[in-house]
Amino acid sequence: MIIDAEQPGASDPMARPIAAIARPLGIQTNNFAEWTAVVLALERARALGASEVELVLDSKLVVEQLMGRWRVKEPTLATLHAQARTLLAGFRGWNARHEGRANNKQADAMANLALDDPVAARLAEAGERPPPTSGSAAGDPIAAPDPSGRADASGLVRLPSAGPEAWICVTCGVQYPLSDVPPVECPICQDERQYVGWGGQQWTTMARLAAAGHRNELAEEEAGLWNLGTRPRVAIGQRALIVRTPAGNVMWDCIPFVDGDSVAQLRRMGGLAAIAISHPHFYGSMTTWSAAFGDCPVYIHAADGEWVQFRGPGLRLWEGDALEILSGITLINTRGHFPGATVLHWAAGADGRGTLLTGDSITVVQDRRWVSFMYSYPNLVPLSDAEVRHIADAVRPFRYDRMYSAWEGRVTATDGPDAVERSVERYLVHR
Ligand SMILES: [Zn+2]
Ligand SMILES: [Zn+2]
Repeated sequence: MIIDAEQPGASDPMARPIAAIARPLGIQTNNFAEWTAVVLALERARALGASEVELVLDSKLVVEQLMGRWRVKEPTLATLHAQARTLLAGFRGWNARHEGRANNKQADAMANLALDDPVAARLAEAGERPPPTSGSAAGDPIAAPDPSGRADASGLVRLPSAGPEAWICVTCGVQYPLSDVPPVECPICQDERQYVGWGGQQWTTMARLAAAGHRNELAEEEAGLWNLGTRPRVAIGQRALIVRTPAGNVMWDCIPFVDGDSVAQLRRMGGLAAIAISHPHFYGSMTTWSAAFGDCPVYIHAADGEWVQFRGPGLRLWEGDALEILSGITLINTRGHFPGATVLHWAAGADGRGTLLTGDSITVVQDRRWVSFMYSYPNLVPLSDAEVRHIADAVRPFRYDRMYSAWEGRVTATDGPDAVERSVERYLVHR
């Protein structure tokens, strides 16, 4: 229930609401429902033009988590928490407080209505019948036509299936903010560097990926470097890499699928101090990953800021040619594939000889002594001479020997700088 704080008697829990939300969510935990309610209410409050909000919740747990006093551990809830925090940052002021269910009768009645009579709940939400004012309203179902006219032949109204979801694009694996229905299109796939799947734009969710049997696997690549991949692969199928440093672990690039096992394993390894991502094709579920690790910073070059679809509280849009994010971990803006395309320099990698993690800003090709550079990999569009030369110029000041690019096994084990220089010359001859 949303009550206008400026109306007389607004502090009365029975004050007349200016909007009500009631959704069936399928089979979910209480906590999931509470967090979903927070997100939907904040979105509605923002749409109504509120500048400040006070959340009155009958869940003490959610209040404590909102205020940052207790942590959110479960990844799905962490995503909702991140989205709520991002929405709250858009208000001039906010507060959250706990109120027992006995004093939150209107909200309780709406929750019961959504469970017992989803059609009536939807009408109440649409303002086509008054919201219930006591817990008994759920026992008073009404048989009304669907206001949108989408009744099927049986006369039953088709309801949205499982409520709002953080939809994930099937083709590129990028996650979007929570919404009842999937976005119309994925701008990252619409871009000429990617493509819309041949069957048209399709969406999935974390829960569906889990139900389809996907799982994450962590494996050591070399001392201090771990590969994080999903089996079977999802979308583009890139891996993430985990760099371990005395100052904390960094996730380089990101993947769409998050599961409790890999999160728990990473927590045992010390968690994540930061996430850094080479370019938009590898954003994956970065906001969920960040949220699972206390909203850790997600570094993306500001030149690609327009491509970020799901902004979480951890997002850091960095500017300039290079940025040291932790001691010995430096992000370098190479440009090329995207204006903000980035590689990560790990000074201590390869037994101290230095390692570059390159995403597909620099891609290790099948003959792994060589690399290449493209504007579009799937559509085979090359880069201009100047852009290719700029990539080599950007990484030349850094000392490194080994390079890891975006797919498992794509590693130039040694002589990385020579591979880059040779590959640039070969590219320019043939382009
Ligand atoms: Zn996409
Ligand atoms: Zn790419």
